Amino acid sequence: PLRPIPGALSTAANAGLFWNEPTRDFRAAAQRQHFAEAIGKLASARPGTYGPVISGAPTRGVGGGAAVTDPADPKRVLGSGTWADVAQTDEAIAVASKAAAAWARTPVSDRADLLLKLASRLRAERDALSALLIAEVGKPWRDADAEVCEAIDFCEYYARQALLTLAPQQLQSEIPGEINTLQFIGRGVAGVIAPWNFPLAILCGMTVAALVTGNTVVAKPAEQAPLVAARFIQLAHAAGIPGAVLQLLPGQGELVGARLVRHPEVLTLAFTGSRAVGLDILAAAGRVVPGQHALKRVVCEMGGKNPIIVDDDADLDEAVLGVVRSAFGFAGQKCSACSRVIVIDRRHDAFVTRLIEATAALHVGHPSDPRTDVGPVIDAESATRLAAAIAKARKEARLLVGGEVYGPGNFVQPTVFVDVDPNSDLARNELFGPVLAVFRAPDFDAAIHLANDTEYALTAGLYSRSPAHIERASHELRAGNVYLNRPITGAIVGRHPFGGFAMSGGGTKAGGPDYLRSFTDPRALCENTQRRGFAPE
Ligand code: NAD
Repeated sequence: PLRPIPGALSTAANAGLFWNEPTRDFRAAAQRQHFAEAIGKLASARPGTYGPVISGAPTRGVGGGAAVTDPADPKRVLGSGTWADVAQTDEAIAVASKAAAAWARTPVSDRADLLLKLASRLRAERDALSALLIAEVGKPWRDADAEVCEAIDFCEYYARQALLTLAPQQLQSEIPGEINTLQFIGRGVAGVIAPWNFPLAILCGMTVAALVTGNTVVAKPAEQAPLVAARFIQLAHAAGIPGAVLQLLPGQGELVGARLVRHPEVLTLAFTGSRAVGLDILAAAGRVVPGQHALKRVVCEMGGKNPIIVDDDADLDEAVLGVVRSAFGFAGQKCSACSRVIVIDRRHDAFVTRLIEATAALHVGHPSDPRTDVGPVIDAESATRLAAAIAKARKEARLLVGGEVYGPGNFVQPTVFVDVDPNSDLARNELFGPVLAVFRAPDFDAAIHLANDTEYALTAGLYSRSPAHIERASHELRAGNVYLNRPITGAIVGRHPFGGFAMSGGGTKAGGPDYLRSFTDPRALCENTQRRGFAPE
């Protein structure tokens, strides 16, 4: 197929055609320098600000607020701002509700064009956005750059997919004199509730999916990452997305998020975050409240306890690198991160010996330093929680490397435990940090059983050279994204539709061809086209 022109006006010829945004090539001196300059520029810039943006206007929030600090250097204040309260949440929802009908009637191609314009804006300041991600959530260079590319990809991909998904489908009919059409229409106001670990890409992806399908959006970023969200909304409005159609409510999950979930006029909830909050949202959305005229729908992506199996014929060079990257990239704070590795007995000790070396060689430091493999965890609360989990795990398993939690900055050493009890907290609970549990399995059957022995089903992987085992894993590993002979993180829009099932999510696939349908109501139109008599004057 012809290569679509990024940012070009969407035409029917462009529908569905999509190429991923290339990541920066840091071997090229010019790209490296430009990236470093963006980091330097942010470091010398004035602190940023954030606050509610209602009906296109920056507004002072009356629900409190908090300073944003660098998780690697908490004395460095990056910005400050104000949170919305419940009344401001209601105000934004009322604006979104009023704008919903006109937005739903706006032609799909016009809405898709706005997504492409937003992609161009994101592209134009991609390094500055990466710098903000590095500072605000502590992402190392490559992770920050990949996240910005993912945000651009979501805009480009959903714009093109919308032209396919939302085009009325002519249904085959054997019956002469009857035309049948299937349409997909927007549902009204969507509440988008985003996590801090992909504060740009996930916020952007859920938001633009809801917008392009004809819903108006009230977006709530995570408390830990309001600055990048504020910049995203500015860019979206500058791209031409109307202020009443997309509003931002920084604020507390328990207040602003909970109100969005329970408001009678918010009919679609796009949530990505922890299992506890996801389950609360699902339960609340199932209760009809006074004034509610439609069922609520929840697009829900939650956590994981993701395994990689290392088979007895695996290429250990590849397996060690893949496990280390999957477990410790972004300090293990990806929902797709590997937190369990299951090694067949015969290779267990050889694998573990190399794993220790590779883990100990990781550079832990400030993520603005390009050498850094592992940056800080998001905040002091997370570091304290991980310290407690590691202390408990020390009693249940054998610590081989890491285990220290230290400051200044919220640093947790990449940590590996062996001899882990499959029923321990370490084996069962998502810790969301750089902590890896290694299990020994007597054979491949036992390894598959252990891998699937979790309530989650998000990502899973296998390193093996056995065609029979690869075949089995491709059927038997229970996860939304199964990866064979490669790391299990780093899903790419369009190539690896992403999302889990079981306790990891509702089975929707971000960045996949079916995702947009979740934000629509289907309508079948049946018209009798036989003439009967005369049309009245
Ligand atoms: P979180 O659940 O604490 O917060 C997510 C969002 O929900 C935030 O905006 C928060 O303010 C809001 N929130 C909190 N309480 C709420 C309530 N009662 N009602 C409504 N909203 C509320 O999650 P987090 O710490 O930001 O993110 C980490 C979690 O997200 C991990 O569990 C991770 O696995 C998961 N995650 C999953 C995916 C995926 O695609 N499956 C992707 C990224 C992160």
